Amino acid sequence: MPIPEIVARLESRYGVPEWNPRNNPLEELIHCILSQHTSDANSFRAYRLLRERYPTWQAVVDAPTDELAETIRSGGLANQKAPRIQAVLRAIHQAHGDYTLDWLHTLPTPDAKQFLLSLPGIGPKCAAIVLCFAMGRPVIPVDTHVFRVSWRLGLIPKSIGEAKAHDALEAIVPEPLVYRFHVALIRHGRAVCKAQNPRCEACCLQDLCAFYSQPTQAKHA
Ligand code: SF4
Repeated sequence: MPIPEIVARLESRYGVPEWNPRNNPLEELIHCILSQHTSDANSFRAYRLLRERYPTWQAVVDAPTDELAETIRSGGLANQKAPRIQAVLRAIHQAHGDYTLDWLHTLPTPDAKQFLLSLPGIGPKCAAIVLCFAMGRPVIPVDTHVFRVSWRLGLIPKSIGEAKAHDALEAIVPEPLVYRFHVALIRHGRAVCKAQNPRCEACCLQDLCAFYSQPTQAKHA
């Protein structure tokens, strides 16, 4: 499957993204926890409120958990996310004596990923987001859009699920294209290859798409 061709066609439609880290690795990780099962708007609001109320990560750890949950309520699932954030911060402090993940920059990508996955409640998606967005490593965060567009194109089988899709996509996407592939598929998933009723008639990938070439009955099976 011509990954460079897919990226080129999507970028001619949506533009070429520029990698700019918006957060340091620890900030990205905490924001990722807050972003689980909610919208970007809600998670950014919850993150802003958390940082406004607690001036340091130590203050977040020391806060009563129900107070922290109240602070991040707008991000959803606050009663699960508050203790998870505190547990992750404690584990990071225990591992390195400080509230920072900047030292991950010195590790090879597999070792950095292994440490992130060892943290309580951190799965492949959050690990990949930290590695890709905050550190510029060639690791693909697989969200619902990346997963859906990938299996529809026939790059991966739908049956493997989002968690295993990380490794499956990393095996076939050339390293220099990882970030651009991720962004291009998200943009395409939002604009054209929507979850319900993909707009195949407006898609620039029709001739490359396994889903499009299926008989109608098979698409709805
Ligand atoms: S042809 Fe349809 S299913 Fe295939 S990538 Fe385009 S919008 Fe998605």
